[in-house]
Amino acid sequence: MCSKEVASLPRPVIDENECKGCGRCVAACPKGVLMIADRVNCKGYRPVEYLGEGCTGCAICFYNCPEPYAIEVHDLEGDE
Ligand code: SF4
Ligand code: SF4
Repeated sequence: MCSKEVASLPRPVIDENECKGCGRCVAACPKGVLMIADRVNCKGYRPVEYLGEGCTGCAICFYNCPEPYAIEVHDLEGDE
């Protein structure tokens, strides 16, 4: 039962090579669970990263991102 609850948690899915590191999603996330990485992607931008917990699935990050394929919000259960 516990693992079922964890498995259904929403989280952002980032395609780091589509991310331009603009930080809009970081600023917009009401839970503060996104950050800009220290490394660079294949295009030379520092991509956004998920801290790993705390996402509510609100999708505000998705709606604030100007890059069509950089960030989505998934439910782990829905991916299975
Ligand atoms: S879905 Fe909401 S809580 Fe989750 S990372 Fe995006 S803005 Fe933050
Ligand atoms: S995911 Fe989108 S909004 Fe967030 S830093 Fe990357 S390009 Fe900007």
